[in-house]
Amino acid sequence: MMPFRKSALKASDVTLCILVCLAGVAVTSLVLILYHGSEQRTVAVAFQLEVDERFSRLQRRFTVQDLKLDTVRRFFINADDVTEKEFMGFVTPLVEEGETYGWVPRILEQDLQVFHTKALLNGTSDFAYHEINPITGAEAPLTRRPEHMVLLYLSKRDDVKVTPGMDVLARPDREALLKKARETHQMVVSQPLKMSNGQAGVFFVAPVFKESSEAPVNDESLQGFIVSTIRLASLMEQGIPLPSLQRLNVTLSLIDTQHQEDNIYQSLSPAAPSPLNAQRLLKVADQNYLMRFRPTSTFLSANSHASFISLIAVFGTGLTLLMTLMVYLLITQRARALSLVEERTQDLRLLNITDHLTGVYNRRHFEELMERLLIEANDQYQPLSLIMFDVDHFKRINDSWGHQCGDNVLKALCTRIRSATRKADLLCRTGGEEFALICPGSELHDTKRLAEKLRAVVSALPFEEAGQVTCSFGVAAWMPSESFDAFMRRADSAMYSAKSKGRDQVQLANV
Ligand code: GH3
Ligand code: MG
Ligand code: MG
Repeated sequence: MMPFRKSALKASDVTLCILVCLAGVAVTSLVLILYHGSEQRTVAVAFQLEVDERFSRLQRRFTVQDLKLDTVRRFFINADDVTEKEFMGFVTPLVEEGETYGWVPRILEQDLQVFHTKALLNGTSDFAYHEINPITGAEAPLTRRPEHMVLLYLSKRDDVKVTPGMDVLARPDREALLKKARETHQMVVSQPLKMSNGQAGVFFVAPVFKESSEAPVNDESLQGFIVSTIRLASLMEQGIPLPSLQRLNVTLSLIDTQHQEDNIYQSLSPAAPSPLNAQRLLKVADQNYLMRFRPTSTFLSANSHASFISLIAVFGTGLTLLMTLMVYLLITQRARALSLVEERTQDLRLLNITDHLTGVYNRRHFEELMERLLIEANDQYQPLSLIMFDVDHFKRINDSWGHQCGDNVLKALCTRIRSATRKADLLCRTGGEEFALICPGSELHDTKRLAEKLRAVVSALPFEEAGQVTCSFGVAAWMPSESFDAFMRRADSAMYSAKSKGRDQVQLANV
């Protein structure tokens, strides 16, 4: 049996493996891209929802503030004289963290003394007229004015330090705010102002006009103002759960009449690098605010499915490798099967052209060889010679030593002949104990010399068991345009001539 030949991978097979691998990588990448795209859209939607929620919360906050202030204002319109106790009882439940509510009545210069006495009688014990120097922030005695807007009651849940009796008009920004509310008869909202605790805050001011059925409401019926302050930070953050605060970066800017933006608030959580952003316009009373939202890293990590993406990548890569491996195995199996078939075909072919006893070519192949070599010799003007030989008295060997011994002689004979001939010479068994040696490219005299040599090789040494064996040789050289049959006949005749002339000799064929 022939040794198993390892089949090498062909370039086309390697290309197929690479293609399968590339296809796997492409499919995995496509899935990743599609998933990433849909994830981006989901994140964008989640961001919009978060922004909408935050924005509507803030809008609600301003609406509630507006309502609360209006409630207090109505309380003052409907009540005749409000004591501090009544004020506190009504307002305190409305005050939330970071807020103050105050009542600022309008007092004419000439009524100051009467008002002071009344305040003390009403129980506002630490009441003392004063004002705050807008530049130094220091307390100062009251400046003479036709009328004063004096803080009387204050309900607070903030650390602002204001004592009753302070004239609000001393500070130009507050004065402007009160003036606007007075003129418009509407609630007004300040730009973020520095409050007395140093923090930024927003002032809400609502004018209180005495309404009566007899006289129309005019400037003289102004009783005073309900003022409310809210710390900006608490306005922006109060009531919002901490996780929600950590998810968004919010900035608030004020848009003034010249459409200039002034950044007045910045949330603590920093913005993460992301293309996501949103902005909303917030209108409060007469002010326009622009809110800008950006996601924080907390938001992005809460909405990212990085682990799922790596799972897809790992799964895709694994599947790609598995597919490539399977294709590789299929290809190598197929190549191995093909090479096995080829080997078996070779074996069968060899079996078909070989004589099973001696291992030299059989009669059928002898004829095929001759046919081909004659054509070649004819085409290429090459000489071609043939030696036919037959074992002398072979019947006797069989008879004397048995059939097996005869077989062994035939095998040994072929071994001897082969060892004495060129590789190009083709030894064939043409009959029972008849052989032919085709000598391509050999002229007659060389072939004759070879036949003599072969005769000597056979007869010189005895064969095992059978002893000396001889053969009779007939030599012929092909003549141009001679047919196979004629050529064979001449060689055969030469061999029979050797037989008839006493055997163990070489005879040349007739020309
Ligand atoms: P000659 O010198 O005239 O050739 O005499 P011969 O005895 O060799 O010739 P013959 O043709 O009378 O005998 C050939 C014998 O060879 C007959 C046959 O039994 C024997 N033979 C043919 N093939 C084989 C074989 O494969 N093995 C063995 N052992 N004998 C075979
Ligand atoms: Mg014979
Ligand atoms: Mg014979």
